[in-house]
Amino acid sequence: MADFDLDLFVIGGGSGGVRAARLAAQMGKRVAIAEEYRFGGTCVIRGCVPKKLFVYASQFPEHFADAVGYGWTLGETRFDWPTLVANKDREIARLEGLYRKGLDTAGARIIDGRAELLDRHTVRVGDSTLTAKHILVATGGRPNPHQALPGHEHCIFSNEAFDLPALPRSIAIEGGGYIAVEFANIFHGLGVETALVYRGKEILGRFDGDMRRGVHEAMEAKGIRILCHEIFESVQKRTDGRLDAQLKSGGKETFDQVMLAIGRIPNTEGLGLEKAGVETGVKGEILVDDHSRTSIENIWAIGDVTDRVQLTPVAIHEAMCFIETVFRDNPTKVDHEDIATAVFSQPEIGTVGLSEEAAQERYGDLEIYRASFRPMRHTLSGRREKMIMKLVVDAATRRVVGAHVMGPDAGEMAQLLAIPIKAKLTKDVFDRTMAVHPTAAEELVTMYKPTYLVRGGERVDPS
Ligand code: NDP
Repeated sequence: MADFDLDLFVIGGGSGGVRAARLAAQMGKRVAIAEEYRFGGTCVIRGCVPKKLFVYASQFPEHFADAVGYGWTLGETRFDWPTLVANKDREIARLEGLYRKGLDTAGARIIDGRAELLDRHTVRVGDSTLTAKHILVATGGRPNPHQALPGHEHCIFSNEAFDLPALPRSIAIEGGGYIAVEFANIFHGLGVETALVYRGKEILGRFDGDMRRGVHEAMEAKGIRILCHEIFESVQKRTDGRLDAQLKSGGKETFDQVMLAIGRIPNTEGLGLEKAGVETGVKGEILVDDHSRTSIENIWAIGDVTDRVQLTPVAIHEAMCFIETVFRDNPTKVDHEDIATAVFSQPEIGTVGLSEEAAQERYGDLEIYRASFRPMRHTLSGRREKMIMKLVVDAATRRVVGAHVMGPDAGEMAQLLAIPIKAKLTKDVFDRTMAVHPTAAEELVTMYKPTYLVRGGERVDPS
C-alpha cells in the first residue's frame, strides 16, 4: 500500500471542512486543512453569524417603539453603522480564533493558503505538495455574480453588504430567497429605504404558501416595497455615484445601492478537480453519492460545494457522516429528510417538513391546522403584526408531516418541532401534549380541530 504524508487533507475551512478535520485529528489521524481566506467559512465570516447580529441590530427601532405601550419613555436614539460593523468584526475574529484553536488542539495541521489537486492523492499549496490517503473538498460557494445583468459590476452581494463603508439611504435587492428577504428586513430596520425585486409571483419559493404571503404582507406593512414579477434589466452608474436600475416592466429607478441575491454557486474553479478526475455537474457542483463520495474513490466532498442543501448544519452533518464512513468503518448515508430551517426575516419563519403544497403532492389528502393571532407581547405594544402557526397532517396516517411558524422566535420553535417531525409522531401526540402557558408556542398543541381538509386537491370545510 502506498505510503502517504497524511490520512486526510481537507480543502476548505468552513463549517463542514473544519468539523471533519477536527474529528479526524481527534481520532489520531494525520490531518491537514487548507483555507485560502479565513477559517469559519461563509457561515461565520460572511453569512449566518454576522447576518444574525445585523438582524438583532435592525430590530431595535421596533423594540423602542413597542416599549412605549409598556410605560417607557425613551430619549433620543441614534444608530451608528461603523460601530455595528466594528463590533461584528470583533466577534467574527473571536469565532475564527476558536475555530483555529479547535483544530490546533485536536492536532490538525493548519495551512493558510489555496490548495489545488495535482492528482487523486496529491495536493499543492504554494510551493509545497502533500499526499493524502483521503481528500475532502469542502470549499463552499459564493454569490452568483449574475454576469448576464448589464451593470452587475456596480452591484453589491451579501459579502459586501457586511462591510459597507456607510449605510446607503436607499437600496434595491434582487432575489426572493433567504438572503434577499433577510437583508431587505435588515436594511429597512436600520432606516434604509428598501425595495425587493423578485421575478416570481411570491417571495420565498419552496416555503409554505401561508408563510410566504404572511411575510410578504408584514414586510409591506413595515414599509418595504416588494415588486413581484419583476427583474432588473440593467444597472448604470450615474455621475453622482448613485445607480439607475432599469426594470423589465419599463420603469427606471435610482438607488444608492443595488444588491443581488439570486442564489449561490459552488467554488470549484481552479481546484484541479479535472486533474484528479472528479466529476462536476452543470452548475460546477461536485457530484457525490449518498456517502459524499465523488467519482474518485478516495476523494469526498461535503457542504455547499456539492449544492445539495446549502445550510451549515447540513454541512456539519455531512462531515460527521463522512467521518463515520471513512474513519470509523461505519458507512453512514447523509440524511436530508426533515431539515428544520429558519428565515430571519421580520417576522421570522421557522419551518420543518413539508409545505402544504409539497405535502399535497406527496400524500394527497391532508388535515390542515392553522392559527393566526396577535402575540401577547403586541397587545400592549399596539403592534398589529400577526403570528401564524400551521401543522400539515397526512390524513391517512395522521402523521404531522410539516410544521410552520411565522412570528417572534419562530426559528427557536422550528428546532424543537423538528424532533416530533423527525420522530414521525402523529397529531394525536401533539393533542396529548400539555401546553406551556402563557406562550405563543402553546398554540401548536392546542389546535384540536382542523381549519380545513384537503381532499382531491380541494380545500374542504371539516364540519
Ligand atoms: P435562494 O436559492 O434562497 O434564492 C434565490 C432567489 O433568487 C430566488 O428567489 C430565485 O427565484 C432568484 N433568482 C434566481 N436566479 C435568478 C435570476 N437569474 N434573476 C432573478 N432572480 C433569480 O438563494 P439565496 O442567494 O437567497 O441564498 C443561498 C442559500 O444560502 C439558500 O438557498 C440557503 O440555503 C442559504 N441561506 C440560508 C440562510 C438561513 O438558513 N437563514 C440565510 C441565507 C442563506 P426563484 O424563486 O424564482 O427561483
